Amino acid sequence: MPHTIRRYDALAAARSWSPVVNDDFRMDITNIFGENVLDFQNLKSRLPKSVWADLKKTIVNGETLNSKVADVVALAMKEWATEKGATHYTHWFQPLTGATAEKHDSFITPNQGGGAVSEFSGKDLIQGEPDASSFPSGGLRPTFEARGYTAWDPTSPVFLMENPNGNYLCIPTAFASWKGEALDHKTPLLRSIEALNTQVKRALKLFGVETVRVIPTVGAEQEYFLIDQEFFYRRPDLMTSGRTLVGAKPPRGQELDDHYFGSIPDRVLSYMLDVERELYRLGIPVKTRHNEVAPGQFELAPIFENSNIAADHQQLTMIILKKTAKRYGFECLLHEKPFDGLNGSGKHLNWSLSTKEGLNLLEPGDSPHKNMRFLFFFSAVLWAVYRHQDLLRVSIASAGNDHRLGANEAPPAIISVYIGEQLEDIITQLLNGGLKNSIKSGLLGLGTPVLPHVPKHAGDRNRTSPFAFTGNKFEFRAVGSSQSVSFPTVVLNTIVSEALDVFCTRLEGLITENDFEDALKIVLINSLKESQKIIFNGDGYSDEWQKEAARRGLLNLKSTPDALPRLTDKKNIELFEKYRVLSETEVHSRLEIWAEQYLTTLTIEVDTTEAIAKTMVFPAAVRYINELAQAVTDTKKLDVKNSGAVAMLNTVSEALNELGDALDRLAEVQSRLKSDNIIGKCREYKEKVLPVVTDVRDAIDFLERYTADDYWPLPVYREMLFVK
Ligand code: ADP
Ligand code: MG
Repeated sequence: MPHTIRRYDALAAARSWSPVVNDDFRMDITNIFGENVLDFQNLKSRLPKSVWADLKKTIVNGETLNSKVADVVALAMKEWATEKGATHYTHWFQPLTGATAEKHDSFITPNQGGGAVSEFSGKDLIQGEPDASSFPSGGLRPTFEARGYTAWDPTSPVFLMENPNGNYLCIPTAFASWKGEALDHKTPLLRSIEALNTQVKRALKLFGVETVRVIPTVGAEQEYFLIDQEFFYRRPDLMTSGRTLVGAKPPRGQELDDHYFGSIPDRVLSYMLDVERELYRLGIPVKTRHNEVAPGQFELAPIFENSNIAADHQQLTMIILKKTAKRYGFECLLHEKPFDGLNGSGKHLNWSLSTKEGLNLLEPGDSPHKNMRFLFFFSAVLWAVYRHQDLLRVSIASAGNDHRLGANEAPPAIISVYIGEQLEDIITQLLNGGLKNSIKSGLLGLGTPVLPHVPKHAGDRNRTSPFAFTGNKFEFRAVGSSQSVSFPTVVLNTIVSEALDVFCTRLEGLITENDFEDALKIVLINSLKESQKIIFNGDGYSDEWQKEAARRGLLNLKSTPDALPRLTDKKNIELFEKYRVLSETEVHSRLEIWAEQYLTTLTIEVDTTEAIAKTMVFPAAVRYINELAQAVTDTKKLDVKNSGAVAMLNTVSEALNELGDALDRLAEVQSRLKSDNIIGKCREYKEKVLPVVTDVRDAIDFLERYTADDYWPLPVYREMLFVK
């Protein structure tokens, strides 16, 4: 009797799934947008004028809020939340795990008389003290002084999370140790926004532009996979690691390119609509949806926002994507590489600089060669990326992303910038001493009068570049799909702050003796002489680029253990300290935490692979071998020709021996690990253990191709990827 009928059960269940129909579903976006957020407009209307004026000073100028004002604000928030059915509130924060954290408290406190009073004070709003000793602190907070504090971030609006049985109010907060060291992603992000504001305003002043505030803007495109839950729960690897650790390549993967931008399957579309509705209600401006390259892969993108809010919204987007999937019988996989041999998922981090009045400082206009202000900010970003390739690389380093970077589907591990033909031409003109013209973008004639002439962008797209200028923003494309956008944004904000600081200092020095325009050209030319090495418009996947990049002296940090240690280089610590984004100890703690996370991820993956090998694959193969052996003996007795059965018996037995060998070697190599520091451990694990795990996987994938299908215990790629 085959033991694996349960795999077929999963297929049957996945096929018979029928969608939930929501009665009132047709979306009226303007009506529902932001209904679960207490936005500033709404909050203002609920506060006395003077209280709002005080609060605004905190929101806009970062002034400290006095406790009386906080009490009034807290009361207004509680009223709003309880009107919406909330019974609890939580400080909502982003520890360095990359996820979000919450600890709920009730608004209601029972009193002695047997009744209950509803309470939520300014103090409750402003500060919390979760006993959060189990969050990673990288040595910042030994357990004996395990206090961690959360502090309200008044610049990001509070919102409501819903559950069929009750709702709760979420208050975006920072999370720090009792010494005030940042234990989270939000704190350094807010600090970096401040640093950038100072430097950009200083630069703008030189160009005669006054503004109250400058905001880095972020829009993050999110890729993800959907698979039926029936399969998910039958794959221990998906459950522990979020990706398949074994699985033979299917006869049909993404080769036909028939999924990309294809018509969206109904079940998926109803899921997307539901996700979007939830996001709209939370005030998250999602805009774009489509099928991605791999079967089962999709993408969602919002309209960009202020980077602090965008980072909060990005975390919420991941939460809603995962949560909503279950209602449709799906599991949403955010991992960077859920399936070997198919494209993985990334997150494109679009970034620009805007004044509060909405002036995009990276908008080149029609004649970029005349737009010196644009060229100034543009060159500053180039110089920043050139100087700090290492930090950008560190900011995207993770065990999951290691499977993508450099694997000919995502950008290579070399950081370079794609700027397109028009801007490259302008830089060449500038370096040659003059700025005469801009290559025109023009209209794209499509060769038939029926079709309108489409305006052609001056720069084409280049999907192979990790960091591209795309019209009026930069797009950091090497970010991992499951990661928080905060740290990559922190790095961008900080390195550009430094570049602007340096540029402004040079310029301020020169304008005393030169005409402004001449001084500016000197600054730009000098910076570009250094930074032009980072510009690369060619094919990032090619071998020539690897060689060319090496000749140029660009970094090629191939894996997380190669990249991470750079974080604590003197240059980087000085940078973060100078712009007050991270202290030296905070930088060290991050290295510690991320290295630990890398190692833990790999250990879980290796242990899971081993368990699958021993408890699922081995027994399946042995059963099949038994059956084959029986067939060989029986046919022999009956004097039937049995060379086929004998050959198969040999093949499968041999593959099983190989699996056994690989498992022995795995145990042995693990027993011989000797590093005692965390980076050494990461490196050793990657270099010594991972190759043997690959052998284990190869043996398993071989067996998958030869073992009787009804014995095979794990849902296979073709099933998981094509059932919608
Ligand atoms: P793509 O072809 O890469 O999908 P889009 O023009 O659709 O390009 O934009 C992708 C993302 O870039 C969107 O999330 C969008 O909001 C964001 N974006 C556009 N302009 C800016 C900007 N000035 N700052 C930050 N992000 C931006
Ligand atoms: Mg994009």
